[in-house]
Amino acid sequence: MPKKIIMIEDEPDIIGLVTHYLEKEGYRVTAVRDGAKGLQQIKAGPPDLLILDLMLPEMDGLEICRRVRADSKTAALPIIMLTAKGEETDRVVGLEVGADDYLTKPFSPKELVARVKALLRRTAPPERPVAHYSYGDLSLDTERHEVSVKGKEVSLTAKEFGLLQQLLQNRGRVLTRDVLLDKVWGYDADVISRTVDVHIRRLREKIPLLQDAIQTVKPFGYKLKEEP
Ligand code: CA
Repeated sequence: MPKKIIMIEDEPDIIGLVTHYLEKEGYRVTAVRDGAKGLQQIKAGPPDLLILDLMLPEMDGLEICRRVRADSKTAALPIIMLTAKGEETDRVVGLEVGADDYLTKPFSPKELVARVKALLRRTAPPERPVAHYSYGDLSLDTERHEVSVKGKEVSLTAKEFGLLQQLLQNRGRVLTRDVLLDKVWGYDADVISRTVDVHIRRLREKIPLLQDAIQTVKPFGYKLKEEP
């Protein structure tokens, strides 16, 4: 399921740019140019994250932020506030009111994407623990940390195991090298994305079933076919 983001912003250029970059990353973006309408949208179906401009006609970002935080249904909604240069005090207030992060205009869309990712990661509920996956003749048990093919155990390193688990959890979906590095090696790991390729190659060598089942999606990353 793509993550849903609502953006309340009155500048069409910023809406266009940010929407473009976020959609490219697979997010579903709804842009609203008016605070009251934005609040209605949020109440109708809370998004996974809110990008909120501070300076808006009529109802400003601070007021929207307060109202979102005051409603128990949306109190925990991750919010990134967009401020203009020089709005130093408003900035601080924005954080006091309860924005989780802020960016000062002009900002690079890439920086915003990075902040969105980081904030979603920080606020994500822990993943549902699934103990067992099967895929054709292959099975993976997270509790016993075992992988087997046709009942015969395959010896994998911890990283290979983690990588295979991610692929099984997300079968049918493209996983970028960045996402895999993040999930398997950890956010701060000092490794290059080629490391992922090396480990994928080893997985394919160790488990012939994965030879074709793991598809290379150039230039992004990898995908495990829905069915083996
Ligand atoms: Ca504005």
